[in-house]
Amino acid sequence: MKAATLIRDIPDFPQPGIMFKDITPVLADPVAFAEVIAALSEDIKRLRPDVIVGIESRGFLFGAPVAHELGVGFVPFRKAGKLPYKTVTQEYALEYGTATVEAHVDAIKPGQRVVIVDDVLATGGTAVAAGQLVEKLGGATVGFAFFIELAFLAGRSKLVGRDITTLLSY
Ligand code: IMP
Repeated sequence: MKAATLIRDIPDFPQPGIMFKDITPVLADPVAFAEVIAALSEDIKRLRPDVIVGIESRGFLFGAPVAHELGVGFVPFRKAGKLPYKTVTQEYALEYGTATVEAHVDAIKPGQRVVIVDDVLATGGTAVAAGQLVEKLGGATVGFAFFIELAFLAGRSKLVGRDITTLLSY
């Protein structure tokens, strides 16, 4: 896919030793961006989601257009302290310290089928926490979808038994 040719490797960002996949050139290219949204939507369709969850912040860039394409609702999962209404929170471990994903208490209705979308699957910690938050809200996580998978970080091993869509793998 054209998008694969546009992803830019940035060494030592955000920390020394990390090779960061910069997806902003894909967003800036209308053909590549459209092809990514179409491919994600086509694969997610079979899961019959009621809701697409996007994880802050690059998950919004892919999740919201996929939701629009599929004709279903979009729910943002945000970092702590950003959402205005009553929230439910899920903490998760980072290499150093912890992080939090947060959603409005009424963002997902009990029993709704949810697909979680993010730009990159790295270690999988963020995705696992998002799945736990969906379950706290009473939803059913029926799949995960990522534009890019960093396979060498084995995030997939944290999502065993889950339905996973990825378009590009490194
Ligand atoms: P994980 O929790 O280790 O799987 O990290 C996934 C989160 O970190 C996602 O929300 C990504 O947006 C972000 N992330 C990790 N590595 C990269 C990268 O190389 N490029 C862009 N985002 C990344």
